[in-house]
Amino acid sequence: MASCDICPRECHVNRLENKRGFCHSGYLPIVSAVCAHHGEEPAISGSRGSGTVFFGNCNMRCVYCQNYQISQDPKKQNSKEMDFHKLAESMLYLQDELGCHNINFVSPSHFVPQLAMAVLEAVPLGLRIPLVYNSSGYDSVASLKELDGIISVYLPDLRYASDKWARKFSHARNYVEHARAAIEEMYRQVGELVVDQSGVAQQGLIVRHLILPNNIAGSEESLTWLASEVSPAVTVSIMAQYYPSHKAPLKCLLSRTISQSEYDEVLKLLDEEGLENGWVQEMGAAENYLPDFDREGYPFSASANMKR
Ligand code: SF4
Repeated sequence: MASCDICPRECHVNRLENKRGFCHSGYLPIVSAVCAHHGEEPAISGSRGSGTVFFGNCNMRCVYCQNYQISQDPKKQNSKEMDFHKLAESMLYLQDELGCHNINFVSPSHFVPQLAMAVLEAVPLGLRIPLVYNSSGYDSVASLKELDGIISVYLPDLRYASDKWARKFSHARNYVEHARAAIEEMYRQVGELVVDQSGVAQQGLIVRHLILPNNIAGSEESLTWLASEVSPAVTVSIMAQYYPSHKAPLKCLLSRTISQSEYDEVLKLLDEEGLENGWVQEMGAAENYLPDFDREGYPFSASANMKR
């Protein structure tokens, strides 16, 4: 952090002295919400919910981000800095008071050392449940290697197969190369998904792919790459919930939800590539998945609507 290269942006600012790079984040973790989340994949939410820790700010700037209230409002988020001990206590609250199946770190790519520091405090206090790393995929392989043996379940997005669209709509250079290398490293560490008797994830990789309108997500290239370079047995979560949030209504290629034919095309691709493990979100009601982080307690109104 003294010359920050925690994520692929490599800003080289001194975060130990609270200097801020692209992610607007200093030394302490920023925690925007802590709750039991029932709308993740069935293997993540289970029956008692996933213990979600939403980090504030982000190392991406997606114009359509549905979490933009916490990812792209650094002035407000920076008041939510939390010390490591408090974050450790929040994890124990999710485990012991709410009975969650796991701790689910959302948007952790710019807080990897802070995450590890808090886990180091939480384990002697009794933290036992699996840790889930839920990221945009814009992760540094070197940082991921530091998490080897700490994270049980990786839940990355594979958002784009085109650097042009990644730059234009998420302000992320070389996204494809970085996300693919990150997913390969995650798979090397944890392998295929392993669930317990109740179907709840204990270890493994789940790759999320959000279908975007006008094939901006490059679904064919990404799914082909996953099947051929990672494994056809990899667990995939296909998300149909795209909704033009934040600045997307002003971007004509992203200003609508996906069509039935775009959805059907991705299902056909799954079949062609032999990707049989995972979930497909059903079409419709995209707005039900929109969180509101100004709502007290629980930012979501919908539960999972996914079929295996
Ligand atoms: S974590 Fe933040 S400061 Fe560090 S390299 Fe990434 S964007 Fe820059």
